[in-house]
Amino acid sequence: MTEKSAATPPEGNRILDAIVVGAGPAGLAAATLLARHGQDVLLLDEAAEPGGQIYRAVELTAPGSRRAAILGADYLRGADLVGHFRASSATYWPAAVLWHAAPGIEVLASRAGTTHPLRAAALVLATGAIERPVPVPGWTLPGVMTAGALQILLKSGGLVADVPLVFAGSGPLLHLVALQCRAAGARVAALLDTARPGHLVGALPALPRALAGAGPGYLARGLVQILRLGRSGIPIHRRVEALEILGEDAARAVRFRVGGATREVAAGLVALHEGVIPGQNPARLLGCAMVWDEGQVAFRPQADAWGATSVAGVWVAGDAGGIVGARAAEHQGRLAALDVLRAAGRLEAAGRDRLAAGERRALADHLRIRGLLDRLYRPADAVRRPAGDTVLCRCEAVTAGAVRALAAEGLGANQIKAALRCGMGPCQGRLCGPAVAEIVAAARGRAPEGPDHYTIRPPLKPVPLGELARLA
Ligand SMILES: Cc1cc2nc3c(=O)[nH]c(=O)nc-3n(C[C@H](O)[C@H](O)[C@H](O)COP(=O)(O)OP(=O)(O)OC[C@H]3O[C@@H](n4cnc5c(N)ncnc54)[C@H](O)[C@@H]3O)c2cc1C
Repeated sequence: MTEKSAATPPEGNRILDAIVVGAGPAGLAAATLLARHGQDVLLLDEAAEPGGQIYRAVELTAPGSRRAAILGADYLRGADLVGHFRASSATYWPAAVLWHAAPGIEVLASRAGTTHPLRAAALVLATGAIERPVPVPGWTLPGVMTAGALQILLKSGGLVADVPLVFAGSGPLLHLVALQCRAAGARVAALLDTARPGHLVGALPALPRALAGAGPGYLARGLVQILRLGRSGIPIHRRVEALEILGEDAARAVRFRVGGATREVAAGLVALHEGVIPGQNPARLLGCAMVWDEGQVAFRPQADAWGATSVAGVWVAGDAGGIVGARAAEHQGRLAALDVLRAAGRLEAAGRDRLAAGERRALADHLRIRGLLDRLYRPADAVRRPAGDTVLCRCEAVTAGAVRALAAEGLGANQIKAALRCGMGPCQGRLCGPAVAEIVAAARGRAPEGPDHYTIRPPLKPVPLGELARLA
């Protein structure tokens, strides 16, 4: 990784060969490969360290340390990926936030209090996933966060909450974070599992596909995790429904229904999680065509087998293009990079295809498990389209009921946004956008379509006014 980056920021008239946004597995793999082929590539990420969500701050973790034991072998694997990237000639901007991007390619990125206008021939969006918002009554109380946010504290700061911790929701990441927190010394008071047993039967048709390639490895690791959870001593309640977080000024308990009975557990901190969905706002801002993925119950950018989107010069790789997991994200990153090289005239199509063959095989292997996971951990309708007075837009305190009432009158997401201000707060619709789109589509009696979601405008993330003024 070059020092030239710090000395000569790629600004002004210089047009980079490629900008890669996101230093997770997809972005690291894409930028490393592009740099190896002599491309002038900039990788930027809002995090202070490379690694993305799964390998966050992996360079700070010494093999054999207690921290390494807590975070596990899958985490430590990221050190190689980061090492190859560090050894490459790619320019790296940590703590840099992409807040605007336009076809062309023009990008505005904020770094250390200054916004930098950047231009490039190609843009690879490797911006990953966000956790699916879990709008249940009480989710806006202090003391409620997502399981992923707890994991970020653990990975980046070694922090563990010193209060009774309740995990609620479903999916492998929820289980993993509960185990990691427990290993790090947290008092895990309960795990409330909302996974539906009926999904097991529904997932069976996806099982044969998961029994080949990398599938059995994932299945084995999943089983080990379930066994570890069973032996961990964490009280587990299964088939949980109707979650509700209780408290006046802060979360103090979680109420839930199980087997027809209503129960409560005391909590100092509640960690919610119902899987992850592509972070779609950068692609929407660029005007990429979006499709609804019914298997993953989420929007994703429409893209070809290389990750090329409907907008010329824009590729998507990794979870930003549909949830694929860390290993598949890495291969998608390289495939996107190979196609960027083809578009730049650095590779013939035949050469690209030859170099891509191994990546494609490995990608297919790692995707074998996906259908099974999607079916097993499909979130309930009530999570995606909450009822009644549950707050949907937490920035502007707009309820699901208010959104539903306008959707029933035939209003679309942008009209509802204008009327209620939902989606206009600091998160710019990242959290409420998916649910509003689903409510709008349900009112129209059909599956969601790309335009059912808000139109996304800059800034993608908050930028101080002073910084904007200096930019002008
Ligand atoms: C909170 C969270 C925790 C997770 N933990 C695990 C785990 O422990 N184990 C596991 O197997 N899977 C985990 N996952 C799933 C995991 O993210 C993926 O499987 C894998 O990391 C996807 O790789 P990626 O390169 O596509 O994206 P990511 O690894 O998510 O990397 C995307 C990067 O883009 C950056 N970014 C996003 N938007 C911007 C922007 N506007 N400007 C600048 N940078 C931006 C982010 O900071 C991030 O570093 C987690 C997911 C989430 C959301």
